[in-house]
Amino acid sequence: MTNRSEALFEEANQYLVGGVNSAVRAFRAVGGTPVFMRRGQGAWIEDVDGRQYVDYVLSYGPLAIGHAHPAVVDAIAQTAANGTSFGAPTELETELARKVQAIMPGMERLRMVNSGTEACMSAVRLARGYTGRDRVLKFRGNYHGHVDALLVEAGSGVLTLGIPGSPGVPAAVTETTLTAPYNDIDSVRQLVAEYGDSLAAILVEPVSGNMNCVPALPEFLQGLRDVCDDTGALLVFDEVMSGFRASLGGAQAWYGIHPDLTCLGKVIGGGLPTAALGGRAEIMDWLAPTGPVYQAGTLSGNPLAMASGLTTLTELARPGVHAEAEAWTARLLEGLRDRAARAGVALRTHQAGTMFGLFFTDRDSVVGFEDVAACDGDRFVRFFHGMLEAGVYLAPSAFEAGFVSTAHDEAALRHTLDAAEQVFADL
Ligand SMILES: *Cc1c(COP(=O)(O)O)cnc(C)c1O
Repeated sequence: MTNRSEALFEEANQYLVGGVNSAVRAFRAVGGTPVFMRRGQGAWIEDVDGRQYVDYVLSYGPLAIGHAHPAVVDAIAQTAANGTSFGAPTELETELARKVQAIMPGMERLRMVNSGTEACMSAVRLARGYTGRDRVLKFRGNYHGHVDALLVEAGSGVLTLGIPGSPGVPAAVTETTLTAPYNDIDSVRQLVAEYGDSLAAILVEPVSGNMNCVPALPEFLQGLRDVCDDTGALLVFDEVMSGFRASLGGAQAWYGIHPDLTCLGKVIGGGLPTAALGGRAEIMDWLAPTGPVYQAGTLSGNPLAMASGLTTLTELARPGVHAEAEAWTARLLEGLRDRAARAGVALRTHQAGTMFGLFFTDRDSVVGFEDVAACDGDRFVRFFHGMLEAGVYLAPSAFEAGFVSTAHDEAALRHTLDAAEQVFADL
């Protein structure tokens, strides 16, 4: 068996930091060499040695209708033939915004940006500008991109004022960031009792996808909504990952709880770089040029990304399409639990639409970061490498969620479950 990935990775390391352009792609958490990919079609990807994998990473979420969907490829090609960027408005931007609004009615007004990080960064600035307050509250284990003020982990396991989670983030920047444990509304109420008057926003992943996949408890989200209504802080749902996945209309439709602002990313671009901030028009209109809060972007609303996103959402929103992918996801998880049980492997699964989480744990509930961190990490590493060898591509970390697309079919299911049966037996 050749391994061109090793040679390519060695070469990449001479030019790119750590050989990758996003830290999560390095196999640091699982060991070994990242696999270089050369092609994707539907649910499958092919590496540089010609090995095929059923893909549950899907570029970390964006590819909701699978790799190289013909309609998406066509839309990008046709758009590109007419020029790739103008720095002037195009009709496609309005069309994508209209489509998003039809699916998520809470997005009364949108601003397209280029990444989820940017959407969250701008959400914080807008919330601060609109409320005239500085503090933001986020949750342990929630990720909102590499925004300075949001790169905060609580660290010591106690409620605390922000401690920078990365060198290079000044304490002065994170002093206004409060953190609380996920799914723990009492902690939120305590913090709000003390800091409510200066609280601009509560940011939350309503389905957390950056500590494996942990859906919020409905009463937790409702509690956040109530706290925000009481204090005048804005409730910001970071649906960069859960948008168009937890349900077609995102987590907000799934729970029936409505934020003031929503961050979207990943699926909204269908595999090209775009993201969006949106929400109540009265708040959104505080952004420049209608309002005083500055925000701009050279490639924001890029035509290729708009075409890719619009086509992806149009396909995904066709009647029954998303529901079918959700049902497929449920069958996948049922099949995995069944095979794990037969092999005597303690496995818990979570599903939120077409997102899923696998936990090697015998705890009977996983609701917070501590529960996730307590899972059997060695077992995950062996499972990950076993599945990789058997042609199933999972994210190289026990803290990532899994994703399913509308292209995942019977053959992909059978392949995955056969692989899992073998790998569980070896655990
Ligand atoms: C991926 C992600 C981000 C960051 O998006 P990028 O496009 O990687 O900058 C922010 N929030 C959540 C919930 C995410 O999953």
